[in-house]
Formats: sequence, structure tokens, C-alpha cells
Amino acid sequence: MISFADARRHVVERCDRLAPREVALTDALGTVLAHDVVAPEDVPPFANSGMDGYAVRSTDVADATEDQPVRLRVAGTIAAGEGPHTAVAPGTAVRIMTGAPVPAGADAVVMVERSTRVGDDEVDLTQAVPAGLHIREAGGDVAAGSVVLTAGTFLRPAHLGVLASVNVRTPTVVPRPLVGVLSTGDELVDDGRPLAPGQIRESNRPTLVAACRSYGFDAVDLGSVPDDRDAIADALRGAAASCDAVVSSGGVSMGDFDLVKVVLDDLADMTWMQVAIRPAKPFAFGVMATDRGGVPVFGLPGNPVSSLVSLSLLGVPGLRTMAGRTGNDVDLPAVIAISAQAIDGKADGRTAFVRVRASWDEGGVVVEPVSAQGSHQLVATSSANALAVLPDGDGVRAGDPVMLVLLHEPF
Ligand code: AMP
Ligand code: MG
Repeated sequence: MISFADARRHVVERCDRLAPREVALTDALGTVLAHDVVAPEDVPPFANSGMDGYAVRSTDVADATEDQPVRLRVAGTIAAGEGPHTAVAPGTAVRIMTGAPVPAGADAVVMVERSTRVGDDEVDLTQAVPAGLHIREAGGDVAAGSVVLTAGTFLRPAHLGVLASVNVRTPTVVPRPLVGVLSTGDELVDDGRPLAPGQIRESNRPTLVAACRSYGFDAVDLGSVPDDRDAIADALRGAAASCDAVVSSGGVSMGDFDLVKVVLDDLADMTWMQVAIRPAKPFAFGVMATDRGGVPVFGLPGNPVSSLVSLSLLGVPGLRTMAGRTGNDVDLPAVIAISAQAIDGKADGRTAFVRVRASWDEGGVVVEPVSAQGSHQLVATSSANALAVLPDGDGVRAGDPVMLVLLHEPF
């Protein structure tokens, strides 16, 4: 057996970052920015009002109070989107809306809540405002020439807004890898027909395609393949020709018909591993040469729980490396939580990844194992939101801290 850390490192070292390309801003969510972004212009581009109110000269309202308002002549109105207004002369104010350019002469805005209109032409203001109040200066968010985002930034929603605000409409990003998902097994039925003796319903492909998407990759379902050398070889070649990475399930254990590892041995620079984890011990990984370059192939075990755990722990770091993420950011997020109850461990030389439900309690995050932990018991696993990491040994006692790998947002 090899350690989980060694298996993970083996994968990460052999997965290369995909070539950056320009994408529409709307497609950039969840990708990694490939270049620094320098703002070509100020944001905001001009000084503008942060409030609906009256643009004034602050000296004109220096003595204004609730009891003794200052009366100014209203010299006009300016809305967001209008060009510059005539200057605010002493003794006058301009009705101004949020986002409208501040007229020359004005140096502050009195919010409308502190005003009373007097006829059409005048306004009583009840607040003394310091120069600059409620004015958003040009360049107050971003100054022209400054770096707003650096290469390597993982783009979240607000980053897309930042890019739009500095007129970057087609950022160059590392694309999301397209993962081709296939499964192997003579026993698999995926078309709804009644099961013949020995057959089972296919469940890994829907799980793995959805898991790839939920982890931020693009995924395509490439169907099931019988346990036949040529069929598996054709399927893997076809997948590698059309996808950035291939995930297959089944056929990597010790059975006589576990042919994925045999075929991968021919087609790819393949390493077959017995990883010291529970579940998901068998794992095959190789890079297939294609005319588009090397395509990583992840040979996951067939048991439904194992294939999901294997994708989450060993597939994700490789695929996220392809997506341009680095360091710890290639792994699913982990947190330390308190176990509400004892979780039994085993001293068998393996790290256990126990399927648990983590929930938020007043005292912090608490953890409970789901009812069944067999690697074929997908129903129990479907109620889990995290994997509790139990080092080789006795497990944890109630109240002990335990590390969780989060499979999805738990709270
Ligand atoms: P294998 O890794 O191919 O030896 O498969 C291990 C176990 O997982 C066997 O009981 C298979 O029937 C089952 N299995 C394999 N592939 C799938 C699949 N796609 N959907 C559901 N169960 C599967
Ligand atoms: Mg099989």
C-alpha cells in the first residue's frame, strides 16, 4: 500500500495546467485568471453622489441645524447618467441623485432626508456637512493604472463584477477541464429494463458526472463499457480524444475481469495503486498521449461509495491542478470539528474517511457518522456532507476534535 499523501502527490505532479484562453465574462465563474488585470481607467470614473440629496458648498451650510435651517436657491436637478451640470454658485444647491456627477463648486451632499423643499426654487437644509461628505471620489474604488486582480485569482461572483467595472469583457482564464465519465462492468444496466439475474442498475455515472460538475468541472457522460479489453481500450481512446481528462469506474481491483488497469497499462503511462485509505483502496492513474497532449485518466474503484470518495480525494486535486489552482486550493476544503459521538477506528494501516453529517450547533461544528459505512451503501452516504478523517488507530471519542473534508456546503 502507498500512503494517501504519496498517491495524491503522484496525481498532482502528473496533471498539467490547461492552456489559458479567452472566455466571455459570463463563462469565467469558477475559473482561474491567467493574467494580472490593470485598470485602464478610474472607478468610479468621476466624482459622484453617494446619496439622493442636494449638492452644496459645505461653507454655505456650516451653520445649518434642525431648528435653524439654511435656505438655498435650487439651481437645477441632475440625475445619474447626465453629463456635467453648471457649477454650484455660493448660496445655491443642485438637487442630485445617487450616482450623478457632482457639479463643479459643490464639495458635499446633504441627504434628502435633511431637507424641506420651499416652493419650486428653494430648499431648507437642516444639516451642516463637512467637505467631501457623501461624495464618492473619482478612482475611489480603483485608480487607473493599478493592479485590481492578479494572475492565479480563482474567480468568484464579485471578481466578475470587478472585471466588468474595468472593462475586461473577455478575460483570459485557465478553462474548467472537460471530464469524460465512463463506467465498466458486464453487470450494469442503465436503460430501465428489468434486471436479468446477475445484473444491477448503473449508479456511478450519474453520481460522478454530477460530482464533477459540483466540484467545478465540466463533465460529459460517455456511457458504460463491458468488461472486454478491446471495448475498454476503444472507450478510453475515444474519451481521451474528446476530453481533457477521463474518469472511469470499476475494473481496477484484484478480480479476473478488472481489465481497466490492464488496458491502461498498454495505453498510458499508468500507475496502479493500493492506497492506504478506507474506502477506495484500489486506484489507477495514467496519462494517455494524444495529439492534443497528455490526457490524465483516473481509474476509480467500482463500488459506488468508493468511486465517489476516490474522485473527491484523488480526482479533485488532479483536475483542480489542470484548472490552474495550486497549493492547498487543489483539495476540497477541510475544517476541524468536534465529534458528537465516538467514531470507531481500526488499526489496519489505513486512514479511514468516514461518511458523516456535519451540522452547526451553538458550540461549533458537530459531527455524526451516517448509519451505514459499507462501500456499497450509497443511500447512507447520500445523507453525508463530509468525510471525517480518522488516522490509522482506535478512532475518536465523543468530544474529540476531528478533521472533516467537506463534500459540499454543510451548513
Ligand atoms: P469493480 O471495481 O468493477 O470490481 O466493482 C466493484 C463493485 O461495484 C461491484 O459490486 C460492481 O458491481 C459495483 N459497480 C461497479 N460499477 C458500478 C456502477 N457503475 N454502478 C453501480 N455499481 C457498480
Ligand atoms: Mg467490475
